[in-house]
Amino acid sequence: MNVTHIAGIDVRTDHWIGGQRVSSPGTFEDVSPIDGTVIAQIARGGADEAAQAVRAAQEAFPGWSATSKAERARVLHAIADGVERRIEDLAIVETTDNGALIRSHRRGVMPRVAHNFRFFADYLTESLVHEDFETRGHRNHVTWDPAGVCVLISPWNAPLMLATWKVAPALAAGNTVVLKPSEFSPLTASLLADIAAEAGLPDGVLNVVQGLGPEVGAALVADPGVARISFTGSVPTAKSIAAAAAANLTPVSFELGGKSPFVVFADADLDLAVQNAVEQYDNAGQVCLSGTRLLVEEPIRQAFIDLFVERASALRQGDPRDETTDIGPSIHAAHLAKVDGFVQRARDEGGTVVLGGEPNAETSRDLGGPYYRPTLFVDTDPSSEISTEEIFGPVLVLHTFNGEDEAVQQANGSEFGLAAMVFTGDADRAARVADQLVAGTVWVNCFFVRDLRAPFGGSRMSGIGREGGTWSFDFFCDLKNTVTSPHGWTRTDGAEDHG
Ligand code: NAD
Repeated sequence: MNVTHIAGIDVRTDHWIGGQRVSSPGTFEDVSPIDGTVIAQIARGGADEAAQAVRAAQEAFPGWSATSKAERARVLHAIADGVERRIEDLAIVETTDNGALIRSHRRGVMPRVAHNFRFFADYLTESLVHEDFETRGHRNHVTWDPAGVCVLISPWNAPLMLATWKVAPALAAGNTVVLKPSEFSPLTASLLADIAAEAGLPDGVLNVVQGLGPEVGAALVADPGVARISFTGSVPTAKSIAAAAAANLTPVSFELGGKSPFVVFADADLDLAVQNAVEQYDNAGQVCLSGTRLLVEEPIRQAFIDLFVERASALRQGDPRDETTDIGPSIHAAHLAKVDGFVQRARDEGGTVVLGGEPNAETSRDLGGPYYRPTLFVDTDPSSEISTEEIFGPVLVLHTFNGEDEAVQQANGSEFGLAAMVFTGDADRAARVADQLVAGTVWVNCFFVRDLRAPFGGSRMSGIGREGGTWSFDFFCDLKNTVTSPHGWTRTDGAEDHG
């Protein structure tokens, strides 16, 4: 795919299977959320393309899994080099495709894509060791063996970052991959295939299939030739993937949605807390980790709301290709309608809107895409739909509490457990509260500080398993313990083995 053709002119994007571009009889339109223009025609894969991609990955597995760790790491670093050379292309394509801010893509997201490859390459060669231990003189030696073909399925809100968060460790571990990006943001995965080929990744080691989730995605996860499924997306899709995977006992790793609590105690640095709270609107609220339940201690309720509304009102909504824009569009019109449905029902049930509460008709008219105003609700019932369900839009609710016990009870009163944020000036309180929270990640007086060495994932309905550091290799590998006796040796020098 040639990215100079983006911005208004149709490009055709095919699958990448076995080192070749492969088309399908049908295509679907890729629409930019910025202005509603059709930017590409995408091959609409189905069962045949899924089977072809899994077969190509199976054929490439013996070669890649036998490649030395040093050589695998070298190729991954070469892919990172290729990503770094094309950061501007990738940023423009991603922004055009999913509407997230160009400034984030340029400065944060695409450098992180390269870092995903470098991190797992280095982790493989430098950190992936388990100390040998002895059992009655026998040596236990733990190794991480490649598992086979990994199907990796990613969502549209951070397409290339989330895809490579899976692709990099899966490849580092010696597996071969079939990547299926979201049908709403298919383009950067296709560019990644080009970059990987240029970096010398052998044919068939990384395959990219395009298409709709219930079609090609469903076929991939039901394929008995697949050794691992790593999925980031919504809970309903995860349930259907889990059912398909169960038939083959294929191990799954799920990174799902959330309704994360953002807890602010009265002793918190209010300025810091509000600054971070406003950041929960990032990517138009289309962030799994977003702290969409603001839980604020009663005495500072009004001060918090006043400062929050002042700061959030200053956010500029508009074209995400403009470096000065703070909030871009929703991914597509149907998603905006879904977000608005949540808001209008909450209003009907007596919730009070103190900010936003409607589509941004002006910006939508000027630009042609679906834009929703940053919204804050107060006075909603904590058990209501808007206070419990993931909306995945720029919609926050604010509730109050008194004291630590109530804060923890409200924070944990959710079916999700992805992240939690705690703002307090008291370090002992922070430790006590963090200890009791059910969440994959707890951020204290901060948000979104990520280190790839850390486990990442969610509890409860927010996911199954953890990825990051050793945890990624634990999932993408078959772990093996080799127990060797001190007895029974007829030769010990090994000289004849090497001729
Ligand atoms: P989604 O579940 O609709 O789709 C995700 C992916 O699954 C897409 O590639 C889609 O084509 C595919 N898919 C859909 N049906 C399928 C099926 N039957 N079989 C196989 N694949 C299928 O999710 P989305 O709308 O793209 O993403 C938003 C969701 O992702 C939100 O819930 C968000 O919280 C979650 N998310 C979680 C994380 C995390 O790390 N926990 C990160 C980002 C997004």
